[in-house]
Amino acid sequence: MADREERWSMQGATALVTGGSKGIGRAIVEELARFGVAVHTCSRNEEELNTMLNQCKSMNLHVTGSVCDVSNHSQREELMDKIHTIFNGKLDILQVNNAGGIGPGWKPVTQYTSEEYSNLMATNFDSSFHLSQLAHPFLKESGRGSVVFISSIAGSASYPQGAAVYSSTKGAMNQLARALACEWAGDMIRVNCVAPGFVNTILAKPVTQNEEFHKQIMSRIPLRRFGEPEEVASMVAFLCLPAAAFITGAVINVDGGHTANLS
Ligand code: NDP
Repeated sequence: MADREERWSMQGATALVTGGSKGIGRAIVEELARFGVAVHTCSRNEEELNTMLNQCKSMNLHVTGSVCDVSNHSQREELMDKIHTIFNGKLDILQVNNAGGIGPGWKPVTQYTSEEYSNLMATNFDSSFHLSQLAHPFLKESGRGSVVFISSIAGSASYPQGAAVYSSTKGAMNQLARALACEWAGDMIRVNCVAPGFVNTILAKPVTQNEEFHKQIMSRIPLRRFGEPEEVASMVAFLCLPAAAFITGAVINVDGGHTANLS
């Protein structure tokens, strides 16, 4: 067993965090970089990405970034080529599949077009599957790989208000994490999911703006508040640390008690 200092250190490791220009992804990028990890991130909006990269630079954080739409396979391949070059073929410890969204928003299944369905599956689930597949050789090479999927509590339970497709992408993600944890354990790669409840980001805005829905959700959360992006990032960082070396195939809720409440 490594000594205490080694168990709580990621100094010098390398990481890919998708969707790091804002929200939860940005908090993860900053948290990991503060642990001394060299982080590469991506998003679609170049201006927002560059603003974020400049802010990281001014904080002396080792963060690079490139534009990538993770729902597009050739762009995913280009991203992995970049990772290979930037980190000299060594995606040391972690890959955080964070980029995602709710697509056309909260609406019933009967109103989904097949294009909306396909786009949401491609952004949330296909990206996680294919990026993990593409990163596998680099993670294996490191001998201490860690993959974290940013899932959702909606991956294990449903909302009547209409998030069936979003929930399905996250449920599939949870199962993929369990399957990869078993399949890749021999390659010394751990795979886990962090499942946030409601977190204060742009993605959660439609809920905060709908007074009735917001009140209803709040009454179900024992801590009576939404989470902050940093509160999700700290769990992701923990899962990437050597201190978490025995944790794989887990889906960990970070939700203020939301899923523990039956009332
Ligand atoms: P935000 O909308 O705040 O941020 C999403 C990030 O992902 C942005 O950087 C965005 O940049 C990027 N992104 C989105 N789509 C793509 C794409 N196709 N390719 C590349 N980058 C993309 O969302 P959150 O921070 O709230 O969400 C992050 C993750 O957490 C998601 O997977 C979400 O499902 C999950 N989650 C969020 C919850 C919440 O309440 N906020 C609750 C449970 C889970 P850009 O748009 O420029 O591409």
